[in-house]
Amino acid sequence: MKTFSLLRSAAWLLVICSSLQARANTAYADDSTHQEKYVLVIHGGAGTILKKNMTAQKEAAYKAGLEEALKTGYNALQAGKSSLDAVEATIRVLEDNPLFNAGKGAVFTHDGRNEMDAAIMNGKTLEAGSVAGVSTIRNPISAARAVMEKSEHVMMAGRGAEQFAKEAGLEIVDPSYFRTEERWEGLQKALKADSMKSRLDHSYQPAGKLGVENIDNKFGTVGCVALDKAGNLAAGTSTGGMTNKKYGRIGDAPIIGAGTYANNNTVAVSCTGWGEFFIRSVVAYDLSALMAYKGLTVQEAGKAVIEKVGTLGGNGGLIALDKNGRAALPFNTEGMYRGMVTAEGKITIEIYK
Ligand code: ASP
Repeated sequence: MKTFSLLRSAAWLLVICSSLQARANTAYADDSTHQEKYVLVIHGGAGTILKKNMTAQKEAAYKAGLEEALKTGYNALQAGKSSLDAVEATIRVLEDNPLFNAGKGAVFTHDGRNEMDAAIMNGKTLEAGSVAGVSTIRNPISAARAVMEKSEHVMMAGRGAEQFAKEAGLEIVDPSYFRTEERWEGLQKALKADSMKSRLDHSYQPAGKLGVENIDNKFGTVGCVALDKAGNLAAGTSTGGMTNKKYGRIGDAPIIGAGTYANNNTVAVSCTGWGEFFIRSVVAYDLSALMAYKGLTVQEAGKAVIEKVGTLGGNGGLIALDKNGRAALPFNTEGMYRGMVTAEGKITIEIYK
């Protein structure tokens, strides 16, 4: 009897040790650098962002844009505003900056239009709002918030969403406001690659599938997650989608649970990357569920969901902030524009791997 209980204790010890080992093995690679308490984290898109393709001037401009956004959000939180207010204010700054693929500077559709998607979510109440395929709302993130707060719906698309935004008193602009030369050229390159591809390869499916050339030119979405002084989390994402997108294509950003999610009990998440894969993997909610049901840390859950996207053949990244201010910023692309600010106001900005 004694030998049996001794054996049983030894077996339990083994189980505990090996599960601790497993947790250590799955820890997010950047764990050690993300141990402070963060209150606001942003991304400006993931993709083929290589230092060798960047000029010093452009890099400085991106960093300045990210810093301005971080400071805006941090100041809002310091002033006692809600995480929701901070997320909206931060994303508006990025939407107004033509460097990012959201608001002004959004990428072009196959038809040469700018069609934007955005979502916002309140981690305290689980209320959410989003707009999809809009072309005249200067700041789509504010329209998403209006859908959440001033309507009984969660998601509005196209002309209806624009009409609603107008009635809600938001700024409406001519579609030409969003145009930048760089994004227009990006579309021309993608169109050329599309027609070259279809001439060379009969199995190529330009209709519905995204052209190979898109892979380098599709990202730049912006997102923000925040934790306010009252302990409430919020998340928001805004994007022009993917260059050369067709037929009213909608990405993951405005889909609650795919590209955007927030829940005070777990985490706030905003994704960026090849949207089709993020939709199919229900990335943002999956991250939260891994924390809720499996007890994973935000870093472990972040790593797991990006690995799932990678297994399907997709790429991208995300930012996640848990209820204790722990952050994870995993991505499987060459780079991701990203920044974070601690409760004390210390700012970190990174671009490359
Ligand atoms: N996820 C966005 C989309 O698929 C694109 C991006 O993140 O840049 O619409």
